[in-house]
Amino acid sequence: MARTYRNFIAGEWVAPVAGDYFENRNPARWYDVVGRFPESDARDVARAVRAATRGAVAWAATPAPLRGEVLKRVGDGLTKKKEEIARAMTREMGKVLAEARGDVQEAIDTAYYAASEGRRLFGHTVPSELRNKWAMSFRRPIGVAGLITPFNFPLAIPTWKMFPALVCGNAVILKPAEDTPLTATLLVEVLLESGLPPDVVQLVHGRGETAGRALVEHPDVPVISFTGSTETGALVGATCGRMHKRLSLEMGGKNAQIVLNDANLDLALEGVLWGAFGTTGQRCTATSRLILQRKIHDRFLRMVCDAAENLRMGDGLDAKTHVGPLINEAARDKVERYVDIAKNEGCVLETGGNAPRGERLGRGWFFRPTVFAGVRPGMRLEQEEVFGPVLAVIRVKDLDEAIKVNNDVRYGLSSSLYTADLDSGFRAMTALETGITYVNAPTIGAEAHLPFGGVKQTGNGHREGGWQVYDFFSETKVVYVDYSGHLQRAQIDNR
Ligand code: NAD
Repeated sequence: MARTYRNFIAGEWVAPVAGDYFENRNPARWYDVVGRFPESDARDVARAVRAATRGAVAWAATPAPLRGEVLKRVGDGLTKKKEEIARAMTREMGKVLAEARGDVQEAIDTAYYAASEGRRLFGHTVPSELRNKWAMSFRRPIGVAGLITPFNFPLAIPTWKMFPALVCGNAVILKPAEDTPLTATLLVEVLLESGLPPDVVQLVHGRGETAGRALVEHPDVPVISFTGSTETGALVGATCGRMHKRLSLEMGGKNAQIVLNDANLDLALEGVLWGAFGTTGQRCTATSRLILQRKIHDRFLRMVCDAAENLRMGDGLDAKTHVGPLINEAARDKVERYVDIAKNEGCVLETGGNAPRGERLGRGWFFRPTVFAGVRPGMRLEQEEVFGPVLAVIRVKDLDEAIKVNNDVRYGLSSSLYTADLDSGFRAMTALETGITYVNAPTIGAEAHLPFGGVKQTGNGHREGGWQVYDFFSETKVVYVDYSGHLQRAQIDNR
């Protein structure tokens, strides 16, 4: 019998008000039930908001360096439990163990960065334009932050949001993806073991349309940080706009790797295999388009297909596995639909294109690494996010055409260019319309201490990671102190 898990609200692990639960299953083996988790509704969210509102007051009064010390202990706790959490993540989400360990490591890096930020949280002191007047800015917490996260980075993404929000002095309510509730539970356990005051963090499991929506719509949650699909982001954005909430959106991608004639093809091959088929193509930064310059097109396409056929699918806990399953049945159905769409559009299926059968793989949501050639700009396979192991190969004449193809989509998260030519590298760095560009490295590989996010319909201008996310989770307060003893009018008395 699978274990029944609870929400964490008001300092206690509690059952949902309605008493309903959903099952969380291992995508590599459907019959393996990881646990039963609360199907929460607006009443659970309301309880969490009341507790977090209390928690936010005491936490805001705690000096930021002390808040940072809690985050330091969180980093230590995650380090101790790295293997346990990574294995739980692979079981509930399917990514191979090495990647799950990387996901946990990203959370650890984010925790230590946040810990050190507790002793910075810089404001500005600048000269006033008037004599005997002081001008400065500092940060204040905002209050209760609602965090809504996707399944594909079950630990890294919640922590990208949560740790900066906490160091800035906010209380947080996490509504994790319904496919990865166990990892979120383990995270909250580490926070509590590390001495975070219980009311400062709340965990509410459940569906997006009920629990997620209730969190977004709650009037006492002034900040929402959302990562997920562009479609869901539009719904969240509409509500936040209407309610005047501060909102960070990180959404879909259609990332391309460009390979020029002068590139090191062996290096580019490693990059595209990792970019397109790592995490079974379910990364927001996954390489879903491969843009090849004419002269190397046929040769490199062959290299990619041969290598893709040698990737071993399987349970992510098996050390021999390169590619795990998709997250669930709906995800596999979506990938199958796009294979049909691509065929109907006239793309050429070079390898893959179906789900494996048989004893070992037949009871998981696996899909073969798939490569389509003959893809032309504007086709649906070239424009829309598939979120699976499907690579669309496009042939171009030169770098200018490659840049145009890269930019001609509604998304703008990550891009990559393989070339031996310095000028091409620098030209692409500025011309590629994405939040992140890699030169001679795949579309994947963000580091915790740099800003992360995308342009166009990938994001709404905010960034996670690095120093920029601290601006999102704090209010800037500006203070002027006039010690001249008389009224001084800015812009008037000094002219
Ligand atoms: P999703 O949009 O289906 O779900 C994301 C979260 O939103 C989940 O917790 C879900 O329960 C919740 N949700 C769903 N409907 C909601 C609603 N009406 N109101 C409030 N919350 C709601 O996304 P997913 O399938 O979990 O993740 C895949 C998507 O996430 C892809 O599009 C991927 O590109 C994107 N993603 C983007 C980034 C980035 O940083 N840009 C990172 C990872 C994933």
